[in-house]
Amino acid sequence: EQLTMLLEGFGMTGATPLSNWVDGQLIEGSGDDIVLTNPATGDTLVSYRDAGGVLIERATAAAQRGQRQWITLTASERGRRMNAALRALDGHEEALAQLESLVAGKPIRDCRAEVGKVREMFEYYAGWCDKQHGEVIPVPTSHLNYVRYLPYGVVGQITPWNAPMFTCAWQLAPAIAAGNGVVLKPSELTPFTSVVIAKLLESGGLPQGLINIVNGLGKTTGAALTGHPTISKLVFVGSPQSGRMIAEAGARRLVPSVLELGGKSANIVFADARLDDAVAGAQAAIFAAAGQSCVAGSRLLIERSVFDEVTSRLARAAEQIQVGLPSDEATRMGPLQNNRQFEQVTRMIDTAVAAGARVLTGGKRPEGLPEEAKGYFIAPTVLVDVTPDMEIAQHEVFGPVLIAMAFDDEAQAVQLANDTRFGLAGAVWSQDVARAHRVAGQLRAGTVWINSYKAISVMSPFGGFGDSGFGRSSGLEGLREYSVPQSIWVET
Ligand code: NAD
Repeated sequence: EQLTMLLEGFGMTGATPLSNWVDGQLIEGSGDDIVLTNPATGDTLVSYRDAGGVLIERATAAAQRGQRQWITLTASERGRRMNAALRALDGHEEALAQLESLVAGKPIRDCRAEVGKVREMFEYYAGWCDKQHGEVIPVPTSHLNYVRYLPYGVVGQITPWNAPMFTCAWQLAPAIAAGNGVVLKPSELTPFTSVVIAKLLESGGLPQGLINIVNGLGKTTGAALTGHPTISKLVFVGSPQSGRMIAEAGARRLVPSVLELGGKSANIVFADARLDDAVAGAQAAIFAAAGQSCVAGSRLLIERSVFDEVTSRLARAAEQIQVGLPSDEATRMGPLQNNRQFEQVTRMIDTAVAAGARVLTGGKRPEGLPEEAKGYFIAPTVLVDVTPDMEIAQHEVFGPVLIAMAFDDEAQAVQLANDTRFGLAGAVWSQDVARAHRVAGQLRAGTVWINSYKAISVMSPFGGFGDSGFGRSSGLEGLREYSVPQSIWVET
């Protein structure tokens, strides 16, 4: 069986999969069984055991030891080690991509690209290691005052299932570049690739125990991690509901958190936009990753004079998307990752239709799928006749469902775009440069694209307003979230 072979290749097979990487060892969990389903076929893939609190104890202690060792190295040496560690990924890229594709249900070509992102993120933050210099402040006394940046110590990270490898590297790289040790808990639905990445990087020369991966449910292993006294910063990527619980758990111990949560991002198309580009951009914005992306452009706001043209072109484009098995090289869109997500998306479409929305395309299982594709597939869906008060206009769907609404002028476009509790991303399509910048500046969103969608780089700060969370990842801002400024006063 493919999964067993892949796990075997990484040394992760035992009585049940060795699903944790703690203190330089692959370790089996000892809690309840967690059953994984193949998102594409609906068949059972494997079951593994929840890590539970005992492993959190070992992982935090190991991270503390690993961090102490890490911090004795010079900053440039840490940067060199991070770069060198990446060489351990050489030759394992394809197996990593296949493991991700199988468990997360993502098209294999997307997973290969994700492995490339893992490298990019470590390379970028490796470069910051020896550039985190502080400042000298010209204080009004005779003191010399300077500021330097210290690591927190051990940080706890919790990630979701939609882009497991990407998210893991996205948060691990700045955390260790800032000098911290880490305990990371991936989603219980996509446990393995984070373990492989940590294991490979350690074999490439990172200190033993610096990075630990523990797998289990949020309410067991996750809660043990967020409540552990050794953890002095929490970074969470996931839904607003869980984010609130993580921030509360942190607040009880006065531990700060960064929350990277969901979105309901608006994609605004003015009549003066290059419509070919806008249609292609809108399509990629929502249907990439089957809409299971926090920055998905899930609300398309279109100037009324081009509404029919844009929506009908988009519906045709949606029908052209090759939906199929994740392992098929030709597949551009796979299934949803899990049954809960599938049921939520189906229910939200049905509720919208019952409330008066009209399905322009999709809304059900795609036709012509291969025989074995019995899993969580939903066709690319476009809904019109949607009003801003509907559930589908306010709540995150996290699936391949686009709603389109018309606006009459710039002010209404901005008002509609901001009519949400979320504030993660958004886009403006227009050839009027002044208008594009003006509108972008009025959007309550952490990231805004102009005549583009989804350009993302580890170099540029990323994060939300409102229910999309707080704090920033990527760039220097993302690094600073993992450091504490220390002000030193010297009497001269
Ligand atoms: P989720 O909130 O259900 O789970 C995320 C993680 O939190 C999992 O590892 C889960 O086990 C853990 N968790 C849940 N309850 C917990 C608790 N009480 N204590 C500790 N840990 C707990 O989210 P999901 O369904 O896995 O992911 C989808 C969500 O993630 C969407 O809302 C999406 O928009 C968001 N997301 C945001 C970003 C971003 O960067 N802003 C990126 C990707 C995904």
